[in-house]
Amino acid sequence: MLYSHCMSSTYEQTPPRDRVREELFQLIRSRGDATRTDLVEMTGLSRSTVNHAVVRLLAEGRVAEAENQAKGPGSGSGRPSTRLRVVASGGSVAAIDFGHNHIHVAVGDALGRPLGEQRLDIDVDLRAGEAMDLAAELLSELGREHCVDRLSTLVAGIPGPVDNKTGLVRSSTILSSWVGLAPVEELERRIGAPISVHVENDAVLGAYGELKVGAGRHHPSFLYIKASHGIGASLVIDGVPWKGSTGIAGEIGHTYLAGRTELCRCGNRGCLEAVVSVQALLAQVAHTHPNADADTVTFAALDDTTTHRLLNEAGRILGGVLADVCNLLNPGALIIGGELGAAGSPLLEGVESSVGRYAQPAISAAVEILPASLGIRAELTGALHLASMLALR
Ligand SMILES: [Zn+2]
Repeated sequence: MLYSHCMSSTYEQTPPRDRVREELFQLIRSRGDATRTDLVEMTGLSRSTVNHAVVRLLAEGRVAEAENQAKGPGSGSGRPSTRLRVVASGGSVAAIDFGHNHIHVAVGDALGRPLGEQRLDIDVDLRAGEAMDLAAELLSELGREHCVDRLSTLVAGIPGPVDNKTGLVRSSTILSSWVGLAPVEELERRIGAPISVHVENDAVLGAYGELKVGAGRHHPSFLYIKASHGIGASLVIDGVPWKGSTGIAGEIGHTYLAGRTELCRCGNRGCLEAVVSVQALLAQVAHTHPNADADTVTFAALDDTTTHRLLNEAGRILGGVLADVCNLLNPGALIIGGELGAAGSPLLEGVESSVGRYAQPAISAAVEILPASLGIRAELTGALHLASMLALR
């Protein structure tokens, strides 16, 4: 089953036969399509159990049989397998990616495919109410523009810790204007119409996007790192994001770097993200690129030796922290997102250098270091796909 922490309350109360049907439905949905044989092989269930559940899903109209595909050369003379696909009937969905300095919103169809999106620069950390007002307005505009009658589900990502029991933002220093707010209720109120709202940490959504349609598709267990204005991470274990006991795992941006004294916004000194972040790198490249600013900078476009050296050094520092994580968890991949993940090979080579140097050899040999294939859209894409999955549930 996918994304168990979101689904556990209803899942645990579901009778066993319905539970099998839900599990098969989510498998078909996560793969895009599947044959009955695929389902038997993936679940270990008997063919008759799978057939029974599929008959029910077809009768409910939740999945449909795709047209038989032509068989390839040399594949024998048997009847082609019928593929099952999820029927897009859950209504339109929406996503909001609250960055530290931007709002990015999208509306999508029932399968999470984007219909339209808009982005706006604003100080989200210090202006929570205004940021949510603007996000709701942007969604309303997009809905009108794309003739969306009703949004069934909204998933919003915020760049800070969200307590998965209370739904409250949990930090007195990282997102000061959000502390004590319940973003689910705040967004429901602003949208006005009936809608199911879910809020997640943004790195969790980035990991989910990469897992569903990005670089994580081929890695059941990986660590996603959002390297941006802050540095967050989300661990995916066997295809499921793992969020910790209260939902706030992955705050690697506040790992202490020995010997560093830079003041961090969390109140400590020497945190990773006080040394490696968009702002920290902007300050370093200011001598050679005085006009670069946080809202528009694309580090990969700053193609000069000085910038390459600074990016490589940033990658080495980040890689030192990630080497420790690799030693602990032995992930199959480190997928680096955010603006720094998109900065190009100098930074990634720095990460690779430190992981190779400090992780145990057998562990560093087993880990792939990759940029997020969705780039800085990983969080928004993950939010749309999660909204789609929750709407179809
Ligand atoms: Zn810190």
